[in-house]
Amino acid sequence: MGSLVLNVATIREMATLLGNTLVAYQSTLSDRPVFPDVDVAALDAIASETLPEDGVPIQSLVEEFNRVIVPNSLHIAHPRFLAYVTASPSGVAPFAEAFTAMIDQNCAIWQGGPAANAVERRVLGWLAGLFGLAEDTPGLLVSGGSMANLVALTAARDASIPGHKRENGMQSVSTPMTVYVSEEIHTSVYKAANMLGIGQNFVRTIPVDDLYRMRVDALTQTIAKDRADGLQPGIVVASPGTVQTGAFDPIDAIADVCENEGLWLHADGAYGALGILSDRLRPELTALKRADSLTMDPHKLLFSSNEAGCALVRRPGALHDAFAHASSYIGQETLPGFIDFKDFGPQLTRQFRALKVWWVIRAHGMAVLRKTVDRLLDLAVYLAEAIAARPELELAVKPTLTAVCFRVREWDDAKNAALLSALIKSGVVYFGPAVLRGKFYLRACFTSYRTTANDVDMVMDAIVREYERLNH
Ligand SMILES: *Cc1c(COP(=O)(O)O)cnc(C)c1O
Repeated sequence: MGSLVLNVATIREMATLLGNTLVAYQSTLSDRPVFPDVDVAALDAIASETLPEDGVPIQSLVEEFNRVIVPNSLHIAHPRFLAYVTASPSGVAPFAEAFTAMIDQNCAIWQGGPAANAVERRVLGWLAGLFGLAEDTPGLLVSGGSMANLVALTAARDASIPGHKRENGMQSVSTPMTVYVSEEIHTSVYKAANMLGIGQNFVRTIPVDDLYRMRVDALTQTIAKDRADGLQPGIVVASPGTVQTGAFDPIDAIADVCENEGLWLHADGAYGALGILSDRLRPELTALKRADSLTMDPHKLLFSSNEAGCALVRRPGALHDAFAHASSYIGQETLPGFIDFKDFGPQLTRQFRALKVWWVIRAHGMAVLRKTVDRLLDLAVYLAEAIAARPELELAVKPTLTAVCFRVREWDDAKNAALLSALIKSGVVYFGPAVLRGKFYLRACFTSYRTTANDVDMVMDAIVREYERLNH
């Protein structure tokens, strides 16, 4: 193609191709193996392709997408994709992504996208409102939970070290600051602690109770011991929905400790915070409004496409204090109510992520989204009951969110890991792994709205079949 412009006929043809490809993909999704039989030669050919001097018709790129890319992709939207915490994107997501790229806003400053600015503020206000937080709680959309935790913990660190000036970094801090997490915390918090110069050796791991929730008595004791040892306790990170089992840390009791001790409470709600959509989970999550900062992932239980995470920081001024920088080469105009989001996080150029979250909420409506989360909770219970009914299988804990961890009772870790591999290889289902109290588990996590009870029956049949095959 001689120019970067597509002609009108090609644009129309491409729009049709997009629609047709999407229909074909979605209608064949459940017939495909969840994880593909990877054509390594075809992928090696892509990975070693020489830099092309001349272009090819864009239609041939779509043909190649269908021929090579799709069959060698993990089908995250498949009804029996049950690994990690990775949701099927809602039906409007692919269109939101396309329309986002069309106007390609730069959401660094409000002038980089005035309408996008209004949409992002609306989405952030709605998300804050779900937890009873003020609609103007400072926050922003980022790539996901890991980045949201980093953003919130940056504000937490800067606000928590006495006399700390961000300009001096950690170089001026004489008393090491400590952070408190449970054994079941997500690794993104350790990553953030390392990036923030806190260091993971100063992240205290608090033991969990029988239901995998942070033990508040142990938290209080560890804080007291660190103070006695001359350290500076700074931040507690609680999990409203741990990544492996979906356990809810006792947020209210942890918030009491933080209040008494003068510590920053961050809640990593990447998985579970949006469980607030279900009336059943609301009681576990009402105390989240007491957290100084809260993260959640619209690309998980709000069914946005990847990537969409959200950080909210309730402590007045803390987010702005951590990230605001004036620069001579960025617009100076202000407009009341409009926000320069570059001052709330590490990115300058920012995609118009809010469009897809806004469209998911408005296209489907909250009633459908709430019902979907309830249905996923039901499916987790349905699978857990089927597992509990089989004496050869062992359930780690009754599900509290949408995750179900189980293992073959009499088998060692290696044999259980072999079962996981065999199930993935069967193409019927894709589970993830989990390690709980040092033991290997298989982990199902219901985040696909396409999954039905019938799929769970198929999954149970596959588990029993592979168990029997391996059990001799
Ligand atoms: C998924 C998850 C994260 C990380 O979020 P990403 O969006 O994958 O970066 C952090 N914490 C918890 C509890 C999670 O489930």
